[in-house]
This record gives sequence, structure tokens and C-alpha cells, in this order.
Amino acid sequence: MQELTHYINGSHVKGQSGRFADIYNPATGEVQAKVPLASVAEMAMAVDVAADAQPGWAAVNPQRRARVLMKFVDLLNRDMDKLAEALSREHGKTFPDAKGDVQRGLEVVEYCIGAPQLLKGEFTDGAGPGIDIYSMRQALGVSAGITPFNFPAMIPMWMFAPAIACGNAFILKPSERDPSVPLMLAELFEEAGLPKGILQVVNGDKEAVDAILDHPTIQSIGFVGSTPIAEYIYGRGCSNGKRVQCFGGAKNHMIVMPDADMDQAADALVGAGYGAAGERCMAISVAVPVGDETADKLIEKLVPRIEKLKVGPYTAGDDVDYGPVVTSAAKEKILGLVQSGVDQGAELVVDGRGFSLQGYEDGFFVGPHLFDKVTPDMDIYKQEIFGPVLSTVRAQSYDEALKLAMDHEMGNGTAIFTRDGDTARDFASRVNVGMIGINVPIPVPLAYHTFGGWKKSAFGDLNQHGPDAFKFYTRTKTVTSRWPSGLKEGGEFHFKAMD
Ligand code: NAD
Repeated sequence: MQELTHYINGSHVKGQSGRFADIYNPATGEVQAKVPLASVAEMAMAVDVAADAQPGWAAVNPQRRARVLMKFVDLLNRDMDKLAEALSREHGKTFPDAKGDVQRGLEVVEYCIGAPQLLKGEFTDGAGPGIDIYSMRQALGVSAGITPFNFPAMIPMWMFAPAIACGNAFILKPSERDPSVPLMLAELFEEAGLPKGILQVVNGDKEAVDAILDHPTIQSIGFVGSTPIAEYIYGRGCSNGKRVQCFGGAKNHMIVMPDADMDQAADALVGAGYGAAGERCMAISVAVPVGDETADKLIEKLVPRIEKLKVGPYTAGDDVDYGPVVTSAAKEKILGLVQSGVDQGAELVVDGRGFSLQGYEDGFFVGPHLFDKVTPDMDIYKQEIFGPVLSTVRAQSYDEALKLAMDHEMGNGTAIFTRDGDTARDFASRVNVGMIGINVPIPVPLAYHTFGGWKKSAFGDLNQHGPDAFKFYTRTKTVTSRWPSGLKEGGEFHFKAMD
């Protein structure tokens, strides 16, 4: 059985705590490796290494730091297939999806190559006689990140690339379900020239997370995962005086207006609802057709498309639409919620409950499900299912559809499909959700914009990547200076001229 390690001070380090978690191959259900779960002492060791290494890295000028990031991008491209294969093997997502996971992380690294420009401060020349004011952005010191299982390459890179570009050292605590790619990323970054100790990976569970939350040297914490854990980390991290940003769960609605192109809307819903087995925080999990006629047309278009979906292991080739979910516990949770939908009176139009794949009977595959006539009081509407289950809630008007999206406690993403510019504009301007798609089902902003939800989908002031990341990973210092010669000459002249 393969035993994974931590990555501390430039070396693979065996776990010392004696505690391990199993890593499954979700396609076969077999345990393929075990990952060590760090103790408080192991985390403290990594923090000490980071604190020693960080001042040297912060002293490297931003352009030289950016060159290390450039080289890292080259290495990510060189090893793209290797990374995607390791990712699919632990996560279960298809090979093209796994490459997309690496690619969307890589794009943030590319953005961070602009660090010399993004870190420039501000300057006021002659704020008074001989007085100048300037502000600069300085690294925080040691930052940490806690990441979810569903994007094991992208989300770690969204955190550590800007943190490191700004001159911080970074400790990553990846998901214990698929930690191999994060370990590979740390090795690659060092191959690109990153000094030892600037990016370390400490594997673990709640004990390692609590050690991060309570360690006095750690200045900032980024978290992405489920909402209950996001709330916990935000509360404890803030009360310990750290800068914290936490991104939580989602329940993304897609409103389909009567004038929408129904084929386009159905294709979009199938991709956004079932891609990656629904294990995306930007997945669409609720379709809201406006009017019964729209709903009937939409369901008629959706059913054959959903029934055609090919579910299988990533090794079965590129025509597989989605793979298994991550663990048997995730599968049980999804099927339990499907049963609750049936029990609470929703209409199960496509029933994936009996799904089984020959040769992979022990894998964590879940067939696609489509519900119609879901109402807001049902558990399948209130809770994040994080599986291949799409719920249809019929609204009788645009206002009712808008109100549904607005009243839900989650506010990560939402979309509207319509040909009417007025309606689209009104929706984008009024809905209380962080990322909006207009005829775009998964509106994930590109690297140079920022990513983040509203309501219970995010806690903290700043978004991920884009310009916000450079604010999150730096502190502003403002200097007011006066030089005496300015008082004697330019200063006096300046005052005279003013009189
Ligand atoms: P999770 O909350 O179970 O785990 C996330 C991280 O928290 C992991 O590193 C895990 O080890 C740690 N953790 C788990 N339980 C903990 C506890 N009790 N105390 C301290 N730390 C703990 O999430 P997941 O299942 O890995 O990921 C799926 C969730 O992430 C979904 O809710 C999804 O919507 C969300 N997500 C959100 C975004 C976003 O940007 N908003 C992006 C991706 C995923």
C-alpha cells in the first residue's frame, strides 16, 4: 500500500502522528493509498520552516519572483497529462475535466506573473511643503490554505500562486481525499526555482486545521469547502486575529424564461448539472422554468439528453460524460437525499437509483437524476446535494423566479437564459448572488477577474484571484515624509503662489 508523505522544507517527510486516512480509487472502490494526518507538532515544524524562509523570499524583487512563476507555468504544461492522470485516479473526474482543473489553476499562476505591476504602490508628490506620501504593499509573512476535494489542483493554485507572488510563505492543507496532486505541485514549483520552505504541504484533518487556526505565526488563512466548516474556520480564525477568507457551499439556480432558446438551455443544464458528477460549487442544481409551458418544453428536451449521458471511469475514454463521486459516504448521502425528494412529493422524472456499471460494481457511481415539481420546503431544494441530481422548481412569473434565487441562503452563482436584454439586465442588477451568467450556465470568472459568492457561500471581504488576491495577501503601509529643503525653497514658493 502506497504511503503518502508531507512536503516540508523541500523534502517528502513521513507522517509522525501514527494517524492515517484511506485514499480510494472511486471508480473501483479500492483503497489505493494512505495519507498521514499531521499532529499539532508536525504543523508547528512546517510553520517554523516557513517563518525562517519567508523574509529571504520577500526580499527577492517582484520581477525575479515572477520569473519563478513563469517557469512553474512551463512545468505545469510539461506535466499536464501526468498531473491530470493522478488527479482522475484519486478524484474520479474524467481526464478532460482533470486537465481543466489544472488549466484553471495555471491561468491564475499566469495572472500572478503580473506581480511587479500588481504590487506597485501609490505616490503623492508634494502633499505639503517638502512632503510626499507613498504607500506600499508588503507581504504578510506565513499564510495557510485549507482546500476541498473537488478541485485538488485549481483551488490550491488559486491560493498559493498569489500568496507566493506577493512574497509570502504558504502552507497548504489539502483535502485528505486527493492529496497527491498538491504534493506534485509543491515539487514542481521548487523545480521552477522556488526556495525550500516557501510552499509546503501538510496533510491532515481537523487536528491539522485547528493547528493552523491557533498558530500565532500564521497571518492569513484561505478556506474553500462546505459552509458549516467555512463558518467554523472564519469564526475561530478571526477571533485569533488572523485575516481570513472562507468560501462555502452553493445551490445555484438557472432561470429559463419562455423566450429562451430551449435547446441551448437544455444543453447548458445537462453540462452544468451533471458535469463532474455535480461535484462543482458552480454546478447548476436548480432549474427554474418560468411558466408551465416552458417547464413542459424544458423537461421534454432534458429527459433524452440525460438518459444519453455516459457514466464511467476516466480510463474509459473521452466520451465519458462524468465519473464516480468521491467516496461511498458521498454516494450514500446523495441517494438519501434523492429518497427524501421522493418521500416529500417531488416527481422523479429520471431515476438513476438502480445504476450499476459492469466490472465496476464497487465503484462510487451514481446515475443521473431529474426531479420536477420540487418546492422550496423540500430537503432536495434546501440542501446542497453535490451529486448528479437536478431539481426543477416551476415558477409562474419572472418575479417569482427571481425571488427564489434571492431567498435561498446560498449565493454562489446563478444564471438566466433569455433573449430579452431588459430581463437579463434586471436580473444581473437585482439578484443577491456573487457570480451571474446570462445565457452562460457556469459563470466562473477568468483569472483576471475575481471569484466569490454572497450570503452563506462566502465569509470575508475579498474574493479569490484577480486584483482582490493581491490585496488579501499583502498589507498596506503608508509613509508620510518631509525633507527640509522642500520647506526652504519649493515650499515657500508654493505658499506664495497660493496666496
Ligand atoms: P469539506 O468542508 O468537507 O472539506 C474542506 C476542507 O476542510 C478539507 O481540507 C477538510 O480536511 C477540512 N475539514 C473537513 N472537516 C473539518 C472540520 N470538522 N474541522 C476542520 N476542518 C475540516 O468540503 P469538501 O467535501 O472537501 O468539498 C466540497 C464542498 O466545497 C462543497 O460544499 C462545495 O460547494 C464547496 N466548494 C466551494 C467552492 C467555492 O468557491 N465556494 C469551491 C469548491 C468547493
